[in-house]
Amino acid sequence: MTPSTSVPTTSAAPASAALFERAAQVIPGGVNSPVRAFRAVGGTPRFIASAQGPYLRDVDGREYVDLLCSWGPMILGHAHPDVLEAVRTAALDGFSFGTPTEREVLLAEEIVARVEPVEQVRLVSSGTEATMSAIRLARGFTGRPVVVKFAGHYHGHVDALLASAGSGLATFALPDTPGVTGTAAADTIVIPYNDPEALAEVFRAHGERIACVITEAAAGNMGVVRPQPGFTAELRRTTREHGALLVSDEVMTGFRVSAAGWYGYEGLGPEHAPDLLTFGKVMGGGFPAAAFGGRADVMAHLAPAGPVYQAGTLSGNPIATAAGLATLRGTTPEVYAAVERNAATVRDAASAALSEAGVPHLVNTAGSMFSVFFTGLDAVTNYDEARRQDLGAFRAFFHAMLDAGVHLPPSAFEAWFLSASHDETAIGRILEALPGAARAAAEGSGSL
Ligand SMILES: *Cc1c(COP(=O)(O)O)cnc(C)c1O
Repeated sequence: MTPSTSVPTTSAAPASAALFERAAQVIPGGVNSPVRAFRAVGGTPRFIASAQGPYLRDVDGREYVDLLCSWGPMILGHAHPDVLEAVRTAALDGFSFGTPTEREVLLAEEIVARVEPVEQVRLVSSGTEATMSAIRLARGFTGRPVVVKFAGHYHGHVDALLASAGSGLATFALPDTPGVTGTAAADTIVIPYNDPEALAEVFRAHGERIACVITEAAAGNMGVVRPQPGFTAELRRTTREHGALLVSDEVMTGFRVSAAGWYGYEGLGPEHAPDLLTFGKVMGGGFPAAAFGGRADVMAHLAPAGPVYQAGTLSGNPIATAAGLATLRGTTPEVYAAVERNAATVRDAASAALSEAGVPHLVNTAGSMFSVFFTGLDAVTNYDEARRQDLGAFRAFFHAMLDAGVHLPPSAFEAWFLSASHDETAIGRILEALPGAARAAAEGSGSL
C-alpha cells in the first residue's frame, strides 16, 4: 500500500531516520520483520535504544508509552528486575551447551502444571518453529497429509501455512507468497473462521485425509477475533469424529490472557482439550523460547522417543529458559488482574474518544487482548469483515498517538498489548493522547 501524502505523518525523528536509511542498505526494507517498517502507516519506524517498565526510549531520546510490548511477550513490562536477575545469573554460567539442562525441565514442568491438556512439551526457539513442528507431528501421528487452517489466522511463516483460500471452500490452497510452492500449499485447505458450515463441508469432502485443524486459540493477528460461542466445541467435536487432531495455536494468547492461556480463559474443560498446543511470546520473556506440547501419546511420536524428526541447536537455551521461567513465575493472579484492568481502561477510553470524534469503530476483546477496528460494521467475526477498515483513519490515529508519545502497533490489524507495569502515569499519558488522536482519525478518514 502506498501511503497518501495528504495526511501529515509524523514529527521528525532524525536519528531513527538516519538509522533506517543505513539499515535499508544492508537489511531488506531496513527491518528484520516486515511490520516493523511502518509500511501500513508510512513514516519512520522508531529505532528503540532502551526500554523500562511501560516505556520505550528511541535513539532520538523520545519516550513512548509502549502498547506493543514486543507483540506480546513483555507482560511484566520491560527489564523487569526479577527477569533481569534471572538472565544475569544464567549468563554467568555460560550461554549454550548443546546438552540437557535443569532449567529446561523446570520450564517444561511449569508449562505442564499450568495448561492441563499439555502432558509433554518440546521447547523450540520461535512460534514459527512450534507450529511447523506441531503440524509435522500431526501428519506423522495420523499418517494423513492435509492441514486445515482459517483465513486471517497467522501461525508464523511456515510454508504450508502461508496459504490462501483456493476457488471453493473445500478446495486446496494457493501459495500466499512467492517462494512457497504450489506443492507446499497443496495439502493445506483454508476456510473462513467461525463458520461451522464451512468446517462441516471440508470434513465431508476430505475428512479421511485431514491430519489436523490448526486454529489461533483466539485470533489476534487480523485484529482480535475470538471464537464465537460454540465454535471451539464444534472444532473439537468435528476433528475428533474424523480422527483428525486439533492444534490450538496459543503463541499469542498463551500465558497472556490467563495462567493457562485461552484454554484456561475459555474454560470449556478437558472434554474440549486440544490435542496439541503451541506457545511462544510470553513464555520466552523477550528471549527466543517457544514450545509445542499436548497429549503424551501424540508427543511420544517425536524423536528420539518416536519416528517424527525435530531438533534445534539452541532449543531450550539456558538464557531464554531462565527469562521464560522468571516471567512465568512472575505472572501471578495479581499480574493478570492488572493487565485486564489496564486493557479495559485503555479500550474504553479509546472507544469513548473515537465516539466523541464521530469515528466509526468497533472494539473486539479476547480476555485482556483487544483491538480497535476502524469500521462501521457492528461485528467482526472473520477475515472478510476484519479487512474492511478505514485505513486512512487508522494511519492518522496512529501518528497522532506516536506524536503524543504513545507507540501503538503500526497496523490496523493487530492487537494492542498492555503489561502489568503500565501504572497510573503511563495509562494517564495514553488517556491524554486519545482525544486528539481520535480527532485526527476523523480528519484522516477515507484518505487511503
Ligand atoms: C507471533 C505468532 C506466531 C509466530 O511466532 P514467531 O515467534 O514470530 O515465529 C505464531 N502464531 C501466532 C498465533 C502468533 O501470534
